[in-house]
Amino acid sequence: MSDAEHRDNFIVDIIERDLARGRHDRVVTRFPPEPNGYPHIGHAKSICLNFSLAQRFGGRCHLRFDDTNPEKESMEYVEAMKRDIAWLGFDWGEHLYFASDYYEWLYDCAVALIEKGLAYVDSLDEATMREYRGTVTEPGRPSPHRDRSVEENLDLFRRMREGEFAEGAHVLRAKIDMSAANMKMRDPALYRIKKAHHYRRGDDWVIYPLYDFTHCLSDAKEQITHSICTLEFENNRDIYDWVLENLDLAPYESGTRPHQFEFARLNLSHTMMSKRKLLALVEQGVVTGWDDPRMPTISGMRRKGFTPASIRAFADMIGVAKNNSLVDLGKLEFCIREDLNDVAPRVMCVLNPIKVVIENYPEEQTETFDAPLFPADVGKPGSRDVTFSRELYIERDDFMKDPPKKYYRLSPGAEVRLRYAYIVKCEQVIENDAGEIVELRCSYDPDTKGGKSTRKVRGTIHWVSAHDAVDAEVRMYDRLFLAEQPSEQDEVNPASLTVLEGKLEAAAPSLEATHLQFERQGYFVHDPDGTADRPVFNLTVTLKDSWAKQTKASAPEPAKARPKPKPQEATARVVDPEDQAAADALRARHAGLDGDDALRLVREPRLAALFEAAAGAAPTHTAELAKWTVNEVAAATKEQSELAFDGPALAELVSLVADETISTRAAKSVLAELVEKGGSATAIVEAQGLDRMGDDALAKTIDEVLAQHPVEVERYRAGEKKLLGFLLGQVMRAAGGRADAKSTRQLLTKALG
Ligand code: ATP
Ligand code: MG
Repeated sequence: MSDAEHRDNFIVDIIERDLARGRHDRVVTRFPPEPNGYPHIGHAKSICLNFSLAQRFGGRCHLRFDDTNPEKESMEYVEAMKRDIAWLGFDWGEHLYFASDYYEWLYDCAVALIEKGLAYVDSLDEATMREYRGTVTEPGRPSPHRDRSVEENLDLFRRMREGEFAEGAHVLRAKIDMSAANMKMRDPALYRIKKAHHYRRGDDWVIYPLYDFTHCLSDAKEQITHSICTLEFENNRDIYDWVLENLDLAPYESGTRPHQFEFARLNLSHTMMSKRKLLALVEQGVVTGWDDPRMPTISGMRRKGFTPASIRAFADMIGVAKNNSLVDLGKLEFCIREDLNDVAPRVMCVLNPIKVVIENYPEEQTETFDAPLFPADVGKPGSRDVTFSRELYIERDDFMKDPPKKYYRLSPGAEVRLRYAYIVKCEQVIENDAGEIVELRCSYDPDTKGGKSTRKVRGTIHWVSAHDAVDAEVRMYDRLFLAEQPSEQDEVNPASLTVLEGKLEAAAPSLEATHLQFERQGYFVHDPDGTADRPVFNLTVTLKDSWAKQTKASAPEPAKARPKPKPQEATARVVDPEDQAAADALRARHAGLDGDDALRLVREPRLAALFEAAAGAAPTHTAELAKWTVNEVAAATKEQSELAFDGPALAELVSLVADETISTRAAKSVLAELVEKGGSATAIVEAQGLDRMGDDALAKTIDEVLAQHPVEVERYRAGEKKLLGFLLGQVMRAAGGRADAKSTRQLLTKALG
């Protein structure tokens, strides 16, 4: 994504304002992780924000390790962070820093504060010190050591550094205000004694600076302009400012000292994000490591098949807010689907195989079909050979011995289309002694070769030829936690990993692509555990959001509309004469049908069947029905082989639009519900109150809105015509989606005079 496409946010506004009024002449941001674990998707949000702000304003972003907690930090984590930031597509150039390199300087800064009488060594034990701090409603009390002389403080602090005292014996505190309303300002600790080995400084130090002291000073040293952190640090901002304002630091290259700004951290549903808790999952062996594909770490997501572009798109989609909220995991999955749709070639893989023998297909014979790697709407060329032979595998789920009425797959005596190949019919079911189905005996119809026949069959299923299928291990992942906001007490989802023995079509392993789409199943990526003989695949994401059904609110709002597929060049298009004949026949039966719509229908028997049933119920709206079927229904039910609604339901919906009972927009939301749950269009319209507002009701709403915004109305009438957009928006909102934009605009303009 280019910088220009990034959405604006309040931090962009702040920076623009700062640049406009000359507070800074450049933009320098930083990403300041503590190397105590692998970076996760929350870090990714902050990385994307800091680096893209720098890019946008032609500045730079530093990578600084905030390594002041010796016990938990290590070089392994530093390396993981560097690798993952680079993988996400960002570059800190030569600006790699470590707070631990500043220890000497920080020590000098602390001494300077003591000399100014602004810091003192306190010797209260931790519990007493907490008690002295007071509460939100009560001021704190000064420690008996608060008035130690500068000399005594200097001496004690030096001896702290020299290792003379035990841990906890003393701390260095800022001398600010024990009755400050902001409790953080009640003499915060700046240094503590910690006799621990540091992964970079070894045993050089036995005192370590705390975050509130280290962070602002590191920002100052690096001439950071905008120090962006998460909301939990809002109250720490006063300390940040206090420290920088009370030390006589070298003049700032960029004119002014750094300032801190806060944004809401990312909270993702069904995801635990704290590094401490993630470490526990690794240490307890709940997952296989930091890069287990179920982990929300960047390395886990990479192994699961997420792309850098999808994570950046997600960061951009969720934006930057000032209020904490919970983002649904569905949004992240939406972003990866969007990314992979255009790049992952389609292949067939049977995940839960059952053997099929085509009895009337000669034993030694095989034939190959040319199957496209991408569907037409992706607009990419390429195909692979798919072999057909007497013995095949199909998905166990695609067969039912006693199917319910609306089962659109294979069952005894029923026909189904094998994608790209033939229509087959189930002749016999072979079971073992335990009553388990072990094999299906089918016949094929040689006249239906190539998947072209328009004969109405129950559905189309994927399959793989047994004679050259590749055995593949397929790791199916599901969310690690079922709880929406998991805590450490929550059980891990027992179905978070299921390992399947898949049968993969022969051409798949050698395709040059990082990701594959297993048709009807999902997007998959090679796992490094795989070998040439035995590939291993990880499920990146399913094709549909199977969870959205359960939590309705999670349907993601796309950041921007998908680009429309490019229409194929009319001259380059070769229409199969058989298709053309079938389309002509369809148009002869249904007056007014568009030629392209008819072709689409005959090529997709599933859609044709629905259309025919709908046209039967609403014979006067066939042209609209065809359009709805090939555009909206096709898109909304892309990966479904059985529909939750029938032709008459669609006919009802299209009639509601045609007689202007509901708007097209409302109709799309009704369709979404039909696709998901079935039912009747009229009932959904009533339940959702979608009936379009009549002019009288609309006029009343407009009057109400204008009465609520007298100032804007006056300004509009005085010539500020731009305000029409604002008022229109207010009316549309007040109408709750039931107003038609065009007539609202007309009525509103009229009402405004
Ligand atoms: P955790 O609690 O997961 O260990 P942290 O905040 O302690 O996270 P740091 O390594 O100290 O992790 O954070 C580095 C940067 O990443 C900080 O600027 C922090 O604000 C940011 N960050 C961490 N978690 C999130 C999140 N969930 N959303 C946005 N930014 C985050
Ligand atoms: Mg932390």
